[in-house]
Amino acid sequence: MESYDVIVVGGGPAGATAAYFLARAGAKVCLVDKQTFPRDKVCGDGVVAASLTRLEQMNLGEWLAQNSFNAPGELLFSGPNGEAVHILPDDRERCYGRVIPRLQLDEAILQQAVKAGATLREEVKLTGITRLAADQLQLSGEGKNGRSHLQLHSKLLITADGAHASFTRTLGLVKGQPDLVAIRAYFEDVAGPESLLEIHYDRHVMPGYAWIFPLRNGAANVGLGTQVSRSRQRDYDLKENLRRFIKNNPYAKLRLDQAKMVGPLRGHPLRSQMKTVATVADNVLVAGEAAGLVNPLNGEGIGTAIISGELAARQAVAALASGNFSKGYLSDYARTLQQQIGRHHLIAGILRQLLAVPGLMNRAVRRARHDHDFAQTLFSVIVEVKPPSAILAPGFVLKLLAG
Ligand SMILES: Cc1cc2nc3c(=O)[nH]c(=O)nc-3n(C[C@H](O)[C@H](O)[C@H](O)COP(=O)(O)OP(=O)(O)OC[C@H]3O[C@@H](n4cnc5c(N)ncnc54)[C@H](O)[C@@H]3O)c2cc1C
Repeated sequence: MESYDVIVVGGGPAGATAAYFLARAGAKVCLVDKQTFPRDKVCGDGVVAASLTRLEQMNLGEWLAQNSFNAPGELLFSGPNGEAVHILPDDRERCYGRVIPRLQLDEAILQQAVKAGATLREEVKLTGITRLAADQLQLSGEGKNGRSHLQLHSKLLITADGAHASFTRTLGLVKGQPDLVAIRAYFEDVAGPESLLEIHYDRHVMPGYAWIFPLRNGAANVGLGTQVSRSRQRDYDLKENLRRFIKNNPYAKLRLDQAKMVGPLRGHPLRSQMKTVATVADNVLVAGEAAGLVNPLNGEGIGTAIISGELAARQAVAALASGNFSKGYLSDYARTLQQQIGRHHLIAGILRQLLAVPGLMNRAVRRARHDHDFAQTLFSVIVEVKPPSAILAPGFVLKLLAG
């Protein structure tokens, strides 16, 4: 019988981080993923500055330095009327984050977990769970194409199965569907400086935005995201809209006119509503996007996946030490998630709604062109250099509304 202290389902940033911290703490942990790594994940590949610090804490500092992933130092934002503002960081030493292909990022975190002592089971899709006792779960999974079956046992389960949360859903912990959707493609021979990261609140894309996130050697990740409800409207075709953005948006044209798309245009949903997921149950913790942790303002979910993976691991270590795996005991995790992420996301969600009004977004860009402090606050919040609470500074919302 294959038996562990903790089984983690999902080898993305949330699950791999949880497995890393559990293994480091001496727990016997198995990380299960239905795919084979390195595996790609449809994403913009934008890793915010705070997440780089977290990666360094997982001993990935050297890996970051060796690979010298692009670290854009300038931002270009445009509003729905086409007016744009160019932003440089206040402190030139400050970095807006890096653009790291998920094929590499996820593999790096996963290998740190393995190096720390986690057992990796790839190509295993978890399909069933039975609670045999207060400290014993039996999990069943199937191998590729449903050909082989296996059983695993553990005291605790951490689900980190991403936006679809298909396994977490079978536990009755997820209500509703993902609320956002985004698509992206990779391009080569992209014009313009590698240091310039672009976010365009294009009128055809709103509510939502299109991005050009430059990688090294003239490549870029280009995509757009919006609300699922908008994408289902008859006049809104995600793929067509991205093609139109690339061909017609004046800023995109400057960079992408001569560029070549490499690989397919791929889409994926995003889950940014924490209230739709119960993050604890007896013997179970939910982490990452499965827990609805994507930032509703910008679609960023790697950072919160890493944060929640570490928090879930800490909670699991405490449960293993106490021998208490009940929902009541594990609920500290849910409270900490609310404190560390929920409050930020509440404000970010309000800002998203304000900026979804084209007239307000236009006024915000116009004001940002001549009001340095306003520009630094607004766009630093959008790229997460500042927390969303920065918009509560005296006068900011008034300026946003008044233009
Ligand atoms: C187009 C797009 C652009 C985005 N851009 C950005 C960005 O620039 N920056 C950013 O921070 N975020 C971005 N996001 C969000 C980000 O990609 C996710 O929030 C992030 O991947 C969440 O990590 P995770 O570990 O929770 O889940 P995932 O990375 O989705 O990993 C989940 C894993 O679970 C596995 N799995 C699922 N079910 C099972 C099962 N039953 N058994 C075994 N394994 C299973 C899957 O194979 C997968 O490997 C973007 C999303 C999209 C769609």
